[in-house]
Amino acid sequence: MENQNPVFIPGPTNIPERLRKAMSVPTWDHRSPEFGRMFVPLLADLKRVFGTRHGEVAVFTASGTGGWETAITNTLSPGDKVLAGRYGMFSQRWIDLCQRHGIEVEVIDCEWGEGAPVEGYRRALAADTDHRIKAVLAVHNETATGVRSDIRAVRAAMDAESHPAMLFVDGVSSIGSMDFRMDDWGVDVAVSGSQKGFMLATGLAIVAVSPRAVDAMDEARLPRCYFDLRDMIAAGNKGSYPYTPAIGLIEGLRESVTMLLEEGLENVHARHHRIAEGVRRAVAAWGLEPCARRPELHSDTVTAIMVPQGYDSTELVNYANETYGVAFGIGLGQVAGRLFRIGHLGIMSDVTALSGIATAEMAMKDLGYPITLGSGVAAAQEFYRHERPAAQRKSA
Ligand SMILES: *Cc1c(COP(=O)(O)O)cnc(C)c1O
Repeated sequence: MENQNPVFIPGPTNIPERLRKAMSVPTWDHRSPEFGRMFVPLLADLKRVFGTRHGEVAVFTASGTGGWETAITNTLSPGDKVLAGRYGMFSQRWIDLCQRHGIEVEVIDCEWGEGAPVEGYRRALAADTDHRIKAVLAVHNETATGVRSDIRAVRAAMDAESHPAMLFVDGVSSIGSMDFRMDDWGVDVAVSGSQKGFMLATGLAIVAVSPRAVDAMDEARLPRCYFDLRDMIAAGNKGSYPYTPAIGLIEGLRESVTMLLEEGLENVHARHHRIAEGVRRAVAAWGLEPCARRPELHSDTVTAIMVPQGYDSTELVNYANETYGVAFGIGLGQVAGRLFRIGHLGIMSDVTALSGIATAEMAMKDLGYPITLGSGVAAAQEFYRHERPAAQRKSA
């Protein structure tokens, strides 16, 4: 359907006009000094977004999945063991990626709707007396269930057992939207992508690594070439690239990071929290439940909403798309058909969020859901009226 409606899938997110323009560039020489003058400060600014002063950042032409592969292949060897919680489709896919690389994964299965199993990690690490576990994997924001995990607590559990494993975190749907502190939380590899909080087209995997992860690279025996961070970091520090960069996307990333820093990261996080809270008020007014089990698990970038018994959320999402031209997220994996997701990250405002809430209401009403038309919209309106933005956004 041809329209100007925003999308409410939790990635790829809506692309602001300012970024569409920034990505539309004529060919220019990525071997020129001019590229370095753009790229070196961009890498420095990306470190601020990731919350690292000591780490290195690399930008690969890939999607987030390529970032997972970068994390694994640069730091581990065949037969190495990692510890991972499985609490949604994205944590599941990262586990699968490890296994396909010949990594042994100790999986802690959690109910979907729960977050990273901090206590489970602690117990597994305590039992690992000969330190076979080389890394702990956690998805900061499980996009499939709308659950945010406490990464600081994961690191504290690792430290409590004085375990030397590294901490790898998927921040694809959190970094640039929700508070993320790579150094403070003791994260060794953090992965993101261009199409979520950075509000760009898909095509860049952005990976940050701690000095410890850099040290692990020479010993790591998993095969890698395209994703070899050593080549990428060495080139990046000189303002260049080991191969041809996706220059339009990188120009977009330059502008995106400028937008985030102009707004101020704290304001960006507060805005996401405020918008998310309005969506949560709407869900409560509908009499529906989020998939996230407890308020402290609520994601500020995506809300996954359980549909009532006897309803099929995939049908709802398809219906909204065909009838109103608005995209919501379907349920993935074991929650397929049971929940739909409202993505509220990136270039979102109260007004945009209200249009998504209103559309979800219309679609549910059309399909006979037991909700009152306008109830969610009114609840969100009340919230947004009283919780005014901390800082007015600069126009996009
Ligand atoms: C989107 C996403 C990914 C990356 O998926 P790609 O499709 O490869 O970009 C990874 N993890 C999470 C949590 C995500 O939301």
